[in-house]
Amino acid sequence: MAEETTLMVWIDQDLCTGDGICEEIAPDVFVGRDDGLWVVKEEASIFGKTIIFDGNEAPDGARGVARVPDDQVDTVVEAAEECPGECIMIEPYDAAIMAERGA
Ligand code: SF4
Repeated sequence: MAEETTLMVWIDQDLCTGDGICEEIAPDVFVGRDDGLWVVKEEASIFGKTIIFDGNEAPDGARGVARVPDDQVDTVVEAAEECPGECIMIEPYDAAIMAERGA
């Protein structure tokens, strides 16, 4: 279990082109939504509970911020570099966000 994390990530759906490159590179962190845009997620196998930041069960966009598993930092950075929409936003871990989430 890679519960430790130093980074968080979210996608700006306004800029997402819907090509799915991010999920091809890091399928544990990115997932396609029914409307053809991509969102971030936290996997139960890594964080104990699956959360998909799709705007339904959890917020999307700038408020839908997922923890990046420490062992996947390189692949998430690669996804951000390859993203044609330049819409994968990587930020430092923010304890306040987790507190808001009740974690
Ligand atoms: S790589 Fe970027 S533009 Fe492509 S689906 Fe993922 S977030 Fe959207």
